This record gives sequence, structure tokens and C-alpha cells, in this order.
Amino acid sequence: MKQFLIKYTGEGLFESNIESWKKWKSTHNASAVFIHIMANSANPGEVDRVTHIIDEKFPEAIYAGCSASGTVFGGNVSDDSIVVCCAMLEKSDCDIRLLSVDLNSASLDETEAKILSEAATVNHLAAIEVIFTLGDYSTDRFCAAFDKLPREVQVFGGAAFGDNETDSYVFAKGLKPTKNTAIIIYYGGSELHFFCEEIEGWKAVGMPTEVTKADGNILYTLDDKPAYEIYHKYLRIPNDSHLFYNALEFPFEFALDDRRNIRRALSCNPDGSMKFSGDVKTGSIARITYGDPKLLIHDVEEGINKVKKFRPQCQLIFSSFGRRTFWGLKETNREVHSFYDVAPASGFFSSGEIIRENGVTKLDNLAIVVAGIREGAAVFGLNTFPTPSAKKDDSNMTLVSRLASFIDAATSDLIEANEKLKLMAVTDQMTQIFNRGEIQKRIDEKVKEVEKNGSSFSLLMFDVDHFKSVNDTYGHAAGDEVLIKLAGTAKEMLKDSGLCASLGRWGGEEFMAILSCDGEEARKTAEELRNLLGSQKFSFDKPVTASFGVTEYCKGDTADGMAGRVDKALYSSKENGRNRVTVL
Ligand code: GH3
Ligand code: MG
Ligand code: MG
Repeated sequence: MKQFLIKYTGEGLFESNIESWKKWKSTHNASAVFIHIMANSANPGEVDRVTHIIDEKFPEAIYAGCSASGTVFGGNVSDDSIVVCCAMLEKSDCDIRLLSVDLNSASLDETEAKILSEAATVNHLAAIEVIFTLGDYSTDRFCAAFDKLPREVQVFGGAAFGDNETDSYVFAKGLKPTKNTAIIIYYGGSELHFFCEEIEGWKAVGMPTEVTKADGNILYTLDDKPAYEIYHKYLRIPNDSHLFYNALEFPFEFALDDRRNIRRALSCNPDGSMKFSGDVKTGSIARITYGDPKLLIHDVEEGINKVKKFRPQCQLIFSSFGRRTFWGLKETNREVHSFYDVAPASGFFSSGEIIRENGVTKLDNLAIVVAGIREGAAVFGLNTFPTPSAKKDDSNMTLVSRLASFIDAATSDLIEANEKLKLMAVTDQMTQIFNRGEIQKRIDEKVKEVEKNGSSFSLLMFDVDHFKSVNDTYGHAAGDEVLIKLAGTAKEMLKDSGLCASLGRWGGEEFMAILSCDGEEARKTAEELRNLLGSQKFSFDKPVTASFGVTEYCKGDTADGMAGRVDKALYSSKENGRNRVTVL
């Protein structure tokens, strides 16, 4: 394959470029032509002039493009208004298709169906490039459409650039510049190979907060407080028209399960909710991140080494405009140049980057997505591009980098201390099971839960028999030993019971367990536990027994009501001779 990269400087010159491309195409018998058009601060009128010429002079060429915040032009950043990259594919069965789809929330199901049905008709579908605009639709829902494709199909791309002032747009052959649209480019061919990689490098430094309310790309609350409050508290970024740019350097990391997304704030609403550059999920953990120069450079080097191993013939690069703003021109040129060391590279500075990893397609921000492309087998030894030289951090960012590192370490210490404190606050120090406050809270929560979902649960309570005489006969230390051993044994046994049990110390030698089962099963469990506790050995030579009470949740019960009832059941066990189970 071959890539021609030019800056559009006027009709005459462009027409002669096209002539030379056509000549190359016929002499090399190229099977397909795809043209990327990057429009930096170009108005749609200018775009029309370029596409009109292609339509006329090169009708067999397929093209697509978008508004961008600068172009990756070979080894440098270009701010020329229009940059054109023409790629020729040489293998005979190459199949390139173009589809434009709607990105309004209401039509995303239809959009998915269109994307999939077109994909099914492409010969040897290898990869899909997506050029799209951001908007009010769910980016997660849009990305999910690609996850239904065979796992080996790679997905990559970028969002058109737009900010508070300029609207983003995409366009393609047969489609005038438009917003709320995605251009889907299908690359098929038995000898067409892709290798996609995401490069990131933002370091979480902020204290973790939980996303307590979010919907689509609107983040309402963090730890039940308006999102902007937290943002303002740590960063002092005022809620004004500069928020968009000020927020760039401190994007959020949202982590849920093993997924991590970097998102930047776009704007803030009067109620303190914030609009982000992609979906935010309730329940995820949010942290403010910082661009640690060393980490950013390290990730770029690592990514480039991976792409290099693939031996691409050319690369498409989608680099976040946020990175560009963060780095400034000099460092961005350096970042972009390292790709050029591997193979010819073109691309644009985007508002969001898409990549499919392990079958899952995601939208990130402030990342670089690179797609290496190759026709045929990897050719080793022929690549004349030199190894990227190790980048030295000679900028004046060392102090900032150290401060970021300091904040990171201090935050980690705080997080660890907080975790310990949280655990201490709910634990009974002697027995290491939940304390009274925690188990009481859990009973309250359980009552509320079963009121809603109608499931059953039971309380199990036990009290050591004649415990006073253990203390009196063998000493207080022996009494402590009994409590520790019985609590540990009960905790283990209940954990293995599969009843999602919580166990706490209710009082001196009284224990309370919450079991997710009905009264009968709780009774059986209590019998087992009674036998188990009765068979424990201690440093003194005398068995210890316990008396049990069990009660099941009845409709309308309160936590206090249930606790009173199970206590009564336990009291009956004591009355009736101890070392027994009573159900009430
Ligand atoms: P019953 O079978 O009726 O429950 O008799 P009991 O002796 O177990 O009950 P009682 O309420 O008369 O005595 C409980 C004793 O538990 C009194 C108290 O000193 C002791 N105790 C409470 N907390 C601890 C503790 O943490 N360690 C030790 N060693 N003893 C404790
Ligand atoms: Mg007792
Ligand atoms: Mg007691």
C-alpha cells in the first residue's frame, strides 16, 4: 500500500496531485483508493471545494473526513486548513466501504442494525474506522454496536473536533458536512492487516469518590454532592466559559470493575452537574488524574514499540486535542514524530478516541489511538526507519512531575489510612467480627431490601452459657480466649454456609448473625453451629456451650421488632436448660 499526504493549497495544484495519484494507481494496478480529509478550522464551504474536485476528477476514490484541531502530517503537527491523505491498496481483493449513520439516542438501535448488516457484506472484513461527532447520545450504546462483530474485527477512530464555539462535523462521499453522524469505513481484504493500540498515560492522583448519580454523559453527584463541588474543591477551576479548556489538564478517571475510562469535563450546569466527553456510569469510582510527563512519554514509547513489531506500512493516528493543549506544540511534535519513525503517519487531533480491546469497543479521551496497516506479510529487515531514540525529558516539567508524584504518594497513604479507619469503625477489636453498630445497620438495610424484593431472611443470635463461671474459674483471659475462638469459628462456618451471612458481636458474650434464608434453614444452621461451638477445645479442660434464638422476617417487621423477638427466642433456650435452639 502507498500513502500520499498533501496540504490543500488551491484547486490547480490539487488537481495535478490527483492526476499523479491516478497515474500511480494505474501503473501499480491499485485495487482501491481511500482519501482522508482533515479540515482544521476550515469551514464546510472549503471542504465542499475539495470534495467537489475529487468527485469530478477521481470518481472511483472513496473519501471521508471531519473537523479537526490540527493534523498529524507526517512527523509533525500541521495547522493548515485542509490536509488530504490518499491511501492506495494494491492487493486485488481489497474491499473498502463507506456508511454514514445517525447518532441520535432514539435511533441507536437502528444505527447498530445498519452497521452490522453492512459489515456482513464486506469481503474478509479486517477493521472498521469510525469518524464521528460527539453529542447527547450514549457513547457506550454506540460503541456496543461494534462488539457484536466477530472478535477479530478491529475498531478504531476518532471524534471530530468541536468546542464551545465551533460545531464539529463529519463528511464523506455522498454526505455533506453534518453533525450527529458517524462515518463507518469498512476495510476488507484477505491480505489486509491491522494492529491497533491505545496510548494514554494519565495518572490518577485525586482521592477516590463514588459516582452516586449519572445518566449518559451527565455526572450529577460524587459522594452524593454535586459533581462540580468536588471539582472546584480540589482544582479551583471556576465555572465559566473557560472551564472546557481549564479542565483539560485534569481529566477524570472513571473505573468500574476492570474498566477504566478517561473523560474530560465539557461544561457545568447551574445545578452543579457536569457534562462529560463520554458516558459516566453510576457506581464507578472517580479520581482526578494528572498528566505526568514521564508517564505520558513512557506510554508513548511502549505503544510505539508494539506497533513497530507489527511492521506497518502506514499508520492512522487519532490523537486527542487535549493532549496537544496539555503538551504545547513542541512536545506534541515530538510525540507525533516518534510515530513517523516507525512508518508514514497521518491523522488528526480529535475530541475522543475509539478502540476495540479484547472484543470490547470503548471511547476514551486524551488518548492516542494508532492503527498500523499492512498489506501482506510483515517484511522484516526492509524497514528503513530508525529506532525511535529515547526521549529525554529536557523540558522544565521536572518540578511539576515531582509534585504530581508527591500528591500521588500522599493520596495513596491517605487512601490506605482511610481503608484501615473504615474497617476499624465497623469491627469489634477483640473478636475481629462486626461490632454492634455495624450489625444493627446491616439489619436495618436488610429489612429495607427484603421489603422491596420480597426475599426472606432470618436472624440468629447466640449467648455463651454460664460464661461468668468461665471467668470466675479460669480467669478473664480464658474468657477472652473463649469469645475470640467462638467468634472465629462461627465466622468461618457461616462464610462457608453460602447464606451471605454477616456476624457481629451484639454484647459481652452475645452474638448476632444475619442469614439470607428462611427460618427453617436458619434453624438447621443454628443446630450445626451449636454442635460445632460445643466441640471446641480451649486452654482449660472444659467444654463451653451456647444457647440460640432464631427468627424469620415477617411482612411489616422492623429491625427492632426482629431483634426483640430473636432475643426472646434466645431467652427461652436459656429457660429451657441452655445449649439448645429456639425458633420464634
Ligand atoms: P447465661 O448462661 O445465663 O448466659 O449465664 P452467663 O454467666 O453467661 O451470663 P451473665 O450475663 O451472668 O454473665 C456474662 C459475663 O460475661 C459477665 C461479664 O463479666 C462477662 N463478659 C462480658 N464481656 C466480656 C469480655 O469481653 N471478656 C470476658 N472475659 N468476659 C466478659
Ligand atoms: Mg451468657
Ligand atoms: Mg449474656
